[in-house]
Amino acid sequence: MASGGCFCGNIRVQYNSQPIMSVLCHCSDCRKLTGGLYTYNFAIKTSDLTITGSPKGVAKTADSGNHIKNFFCPDCGTPLYGHKIQSSGDPDEMTILRAGILDDTEILNRSKPQAEIYNNGRIEWLSPVDGAEQFAGMLPRP
Ligand SMILES: [Zn+2]
Ligand SMILES: [Zn+2]
Repeated sequence: MASGGCFCGNIRVQYNSQPIMSVLCHCSDCRKLTGGLYTYNFAIKTSDLTITGSPKGVAKTADSGNHIKNFFCPDCGTPLYGHKIQSSGDPDEMTILRAGILDDTEILNRSKPQAEIYNNGRIEWLSPVDGAEQFAGMLPRP
């Protein structure tokens, strides 16, 4: 079980499974979402996530045409997670958690990125992570 939360502490997030995938993303949306130069994300089954508090969801249609909703703490603005919204209006079965909100740094030390996506958007003075599979765009569909 891992837990994390926002800067002010009003939102808490927990999950009780292993992440399905750990991915570094260099897309421009991720820079705007977080103010950082890339995001580090764990793909978690949405049903394994427990959210305490009321995150604010911001909807956007991605370049791919997918309807994405990203969630933030409404009080302090910390980016928390995002997921696709299915045509039914329900969240996708996979949620993309911003790994930096986790409390336990050891989890991050132990979890190197398995992949880097949108690596064509990587800021030029950053280096690829050793051992991470490289993709110019999204992950290929399994
Ligand atoms: Zn907060
Ligand atoms: Zn991204």
